[in-house]
Amino acid sequence: MDRDGVLNREIVRDGRPFPPAAIEQLEILPEAQKACALLRAAGFLLIGVTNQPDIARGTQTIETVELMNRRVKQELCLDAIRFCPHDDSDHCACRKPSPGLLLEEARSHNINMKASFMVGDRWKDVAAGQQAGCCTIFIDHGYSEKGSSGHDFQAPDLLAAAYWILEQGDPMNKQSEWRTKIFADGADLAAMTRLAADPQIHGFTTNPSLMRKAGVNDYERFAREVLAIIPDRPISFEIFSDDLDEMEQQALQISKWGTNVYVKVPVTNTRGVSTSPIIRSLASKGVKQNITAMLTLSQIKSTLDALENAPPSFVSMFAGRIADTGVDPVPIMAAAVEMLKARPQVELIWASPREILNLVQANAIGCHIITLTPELLGKLHMFGKALDELSLETVQMFYRDAQAAGLKLNVPPAGPD
Ligand SMILES: [Mg+2]
Repeated sequence: MDRDGVLNREIVRDGRPFPPAAIEQLEILPEAQKACALLRAAGFLLIGVTNQPDIARGTQTIETVELMNRRVKQELCLDAIRFCPHDDSDHCACRKPSPGLLLEEARSHNINMKASFMVGDRWKDVAAGQQAGCCTIFIDHGYSEKGSSGHDFQAPDLLAAAYWILEQGDPMNKQSEWRTKIFADGADLAAMTRLAADPQIHGFTTNPSLMRKAGVNDYERFAREVLAIIPDRPISFEIFSDDLDEMEQQALQISKWGTNVYVKVPVTNTRGVSTSPIIRSLASKGVKQNITAMLTLSQIKSTLDALENAPPSFVSMFAGRIADTGVDPVPIMAAAVEMLKARPQVELIWASPREILNLVQANAIGCHIITLTPELLGKLHMFGKALDELSLETVQMFYRDAQAAGLKLNVPPAGPD
């Protein structure tokens, strides 16, 4: 954030803005107080960047500028405030519109500029933000000088800017490429055929509950039909025995159906007996597995031990089922990602997602894979949509549905006041 006119009130003379000359003139803007509190609560680092050429011109002392900066930093709880003491003739790298102040702060705080916003009240602030690679917001006070152009948003003050920033979510989510790979979850052959043509889908998972819903009764025939359509991407088929020896035999048989087959092995049988011994045995026989129905980190740990010498394999944590119990799955999934670093051939699957936001959460923690149902896949196009546009569509939907339902109210005509 620029300082004068954004964080504290600027002094306007002949329509042009100037910094306060003395500490007594420094007035922190009340909207800036509220905005900084909101942004801080949302986890943003808050940094001030200000041109103070009066130092170079000899009309202000560095001590006074530093005193004011300290006051602004303290009252708004900023993480840092950095100033440029030069004038145009110094040809420095820090005087805005040069991006030097922003780049120096980015280095010292390890800031990702693509996930950052620059707010200023002059064209030089916006230009510096643009050169640094930030999203830019212009606060237009109507100064008699060259205006800003090309900014991403215009706001009347920092509080309105903060509302808009919060509504953008993490700008990294607008990148077309997720680092989390999307697997499609389902057992409907027609839907799987359609999804097989989608390059966004990196793999497929099925389970007995989905197969029952889809009316599958000949398992091997269904699997072979699926593999004929999807010969190139990982696809998981689950074993269904409850006896450990028979589970292993089923797993060996299913693994022979195709080289892209991952055998889903539940982490226990129905009596809660750990399947770790057969996971270890199957791993030593080169069977690619997808260990499923996991909800705890100690299950992850024992499974990773059993997968010590495994070929490429997956572990499926049921994040949505964790969420169903009122527990936030994100810290648990982040811990699982850390644990998997010791097994580079094993990837973590965020299973049982409840909403499309789970893709954002999985991506943020570096979870390797998420399984999405066709219903959630249908919401992928919503990413990056402006919220006021979505609000308008919502109002239009209510209106259409009220019309279609034939809703009527007999409103009496307004009487005299
Ligand atoms: Mg300013």
